[in-house]
Amino acid sequence: MLKAEIDARVSGKTKVMGLLGNPVEHSISPQLHNTLSRGLGIDVIYLPFKVERDSLEAAVEGFKAINIAGFNVTIPFKEEILRFLDDCSEEAKLIGAVNTVVNRSGKLIGYNTDAKGFSRSFEDASKSSFYNKNILILGAGGAARAAALKSALKGADTVVIANRTAKKALDIADMINKNTSCKAVSMDFNDAGLVKTLDKSDIIINTTPIGMHPDIHGCPLHDEISFSKKHIVYDLIYNPSETKLLKRARADGATAINGLGMLIYQGVFAFKIITGANISNDILSAMLSLFSNYLSI
Ligand code: NAP
Repeated sequence: MLKAEIDARVSGKTKVMGLLGNPVEHSISPQLHNTLSRGLGIDVIYLPFKVERDSLEAAVEGFKAINIAGFNVTIPFKEEILRFLDDCSEEAKLIGAVNTVVNRSGKLIGYNTDAKGFSRSFEDASKSSFYNKNILILGAGGAARAAALKSALKGADTVVIANRTAKKALDIADMINKNTSCKAVSMDFNDAGLVKTLDKSDIIINTTPIGMHPDIHGCPLHDEISFSKKHIVYDLIYNPSETKLLKRARADGATAINGLGMLIYQGVFAFKIITGANISNDILSAMLSLFSNYLSI
């Protein structure tokens, strides 16, 4: 017995968006984008596409052939996708990674909305800004490049990148010094000078996965390091909602912010780029609270 009503959400006119990556099963992007399209009444459907590395070029050609509206890019293709694009934003070029691609009349244009998702969620949650601030970034992977560049472009005075692999931190510092007016330096993650740097910093950003589920007792900073009330500590991790680092920051009177806002905002900004939708502050905060409940965070 067929127990169904007509489902007319998708018609012959519906545009297609998607997520390109591997794996994609864990992603909340389909729920996020389909919630936005339904809520805003935009006729577009978002689907996950799990693609093997040696099929990446064919997948991109296929997207062009079906005239896809645009797509998000996730692990492991955020860097590799650049060589298949017709153009990309200056920010994405400097970060060296693209997470959003829009199809403009057959030309694929790349953007990095992780950077804007990061900065805007920081500003909203902290009610502060990067302007004239001293920033300490822990880690030097893809997310660190986005966070460091955006902090610098938003007027940070100094950015210190501390990483286990010195060369990666140095590369980010070089990129910032060459392209912005912010002063950037790199240091070793275990450098004794880290305590002094932290004391001088206004904003501390953890971009390492230390403390992420299931390693919830991990913390990127030694136990003897403490925070003060002036510090804003932003952990890109959102599972658990309060990492050990954030617990310590809060206990010391600092402002503690998790990475859920970045996750939701980067998706909303990608939707805006691909569909041209108007995204108000109300939409951003409604999406954040909807998904905080959905993910029980
Ligand atoms: P990535 O490119 O793999 O970089 C990870 C960085 O962390 C590297 O610099 C690595 O150091 C460092 N690291 C890893 N394990 C370490 C350890 N045990 N001790 C010291 N350093 C360590 O990863 P990513 O893409 O930048 O992502 C980093 C984190 O941000 C992840 O937890 C990810 O889930 C989170 N993230 C969140 C959002 C969001 O929307 N909230 C978005 C993007 C990423 P080496 O260079 O020495 O290897």
